[in-house]
Amino acid sequence: MKFKINICSIIFTITALLSCNHSTKTETQYVSPAIKAKDSTHVKFKLTDVDNKLDPSCMMPLTAGIGDTLHYKGLVLGFCSAECKKDFFKDPEGNLKLAQLKK
Ligand SMILES: [Zn+2]
Repeated sequence: MKFKINICSIIFTITALLSCNHSTKTETQYVSPAIKAKDSTHVKFKLTDVDNKLDPSCMMPLTAGIGDTLHYKGLVLGFCSAECKKDFFKDPEGNLKLAQLKK
């Protein structure tokens, strides 16, 4: 009887720990698209995810970090921030040439 109770308490503890971990994971993993769009500086992209090496708007090397990305004419463009992504649309073609894209 004592043994049975011990097993039960162990299983309960494990279950409690697992469910606790699980809920934490779900919270951090689930970010609604709306929040992502608003707070895009928190989204991390890798340099290998994008086709450009320089931010087309401010000409900063993207090795410093990519804050936002954009799909444009079959390319995946990285920007250091959402602000630079906005600036890109002022002159998309000119900015593309400036960035000297290597595909
Ligand atoms: Zn920039």
